[in-house]
Amino acid sequence: MSLLKVNHLVTGLASGLAIVDGISFEIAAGETFALLGESGCGKSMTALSLMRLLPDGVANLSGDVVLGEAALFDLPEREMRGIRGGSMAMIFQEPGLSLNPVMTVGAQIVEVLALHQGLSGALAQQRCVELLDGVGIPDAARRVHEYPFQLSGGMKQRVMIAMALAGKPRLLVADEPTTALDVTIQAQVLQLLRDTQAATGMAMLLITHDLGVVAETAHRVGVMYAGQIAEQASRQELFARPLHPYTQKLFAALPQAGLRDQALAAIAGSVPPMGSIVQGCRFAPRCDRAWELCREKTPEWTIVNQGQGVRCHLYNRIEEQKDRIEDRGL
Ligand code: SF4
Ligand code: MG
Repeated sequence: MSLLKVNHLVTGLASGLAIVDGISFEIAAGETFALLGESGCGKSMTALSLMRLLPDGVANLSGDVVLGEAALFDLPEREMRGIRGGSMAMIFQEPGLSLNPVMTVGAQIVEVLALHQGLSGALAQQRCVELLDGVGIPDAARRVHEYPFQLSGGMKQRVMIAMALAGKPRLLVADEPTTALDVTIQAQVLQLLRDTQAATGMAMLLITHDLGVVAETAHRVGVMYAGQIAEQASRQELFARPLHPYTQKLFAALPQAGLRDQALAAIAGSVPPMGSIVQGCRFAPRCDRAWELCREKTPEWTIVNQGQGVRCHLYNRIEEQKDRIEDRGL
């Protein structure tokens, strides 16, 4: 049973230009689904779409998102506010933007605890210190009285994670949650997220450009390219047998020595600009295996084997050949 269902989500400009162009995925309770891709491919915009926190001028153009029983795009903003920070919380890529500069970090967390957990007074204070302790903030009992400007970037990131977990979310949307952190703290935070998930059954949408983070954290993966999902598979399948030429290049570009901190920038060429209209396969300009069809026709989504799907003509061709063989009764 899926907790979150994202169905043909299209997000873009009022002119109709799509930045996120028809993506679909599901996440079950207790599961981590990673959206992996280079920067500028629409990962963060996907997250902001689900939260209904899109920047001005960008809107959800079609598709739907269902969390539990709630069709999020149909809810009045008032109800959506009750869901945000409660059953669905987000960790932003840029922690500075989401913390209130004129409130102590403790007061901000206590506010979430009051609003979404009904906690107040000493109980809320105690829980707040536990949360900060849990994300590895040293001397948490003292830190609760500090303001965001008194904290380093990494500390602010951890405060934001504590604040997101304070509402006991059923779904945590985490946009590059550990990118700003040093390696030791990164490992600690990923461990905390996994522990929280094991204890509460929280589902997680993890947005990352880091294959090491995917290897350590994800159950299933959607590889995003130019606003679309190019390939979707379980982590095991993806690492054992990447099918899409883009995914294959991501893996081939990795040095042999481990996966950690491997930014996905080692592939020649660049992602087409957001919202640009491209005929045929969006990866064709960077693909070694492209042929005429790739430049003319957009590849369809093809399920290659159970749970593994790919958007690439190479695999349509296999299916078409199979059909032809069957037509001839062979
Ligand atoms: Fe490469 Fe063609 Fe597949 Fe696109 S459809 S990834 S260009 S082989
Ligand atoms: Mg981003």
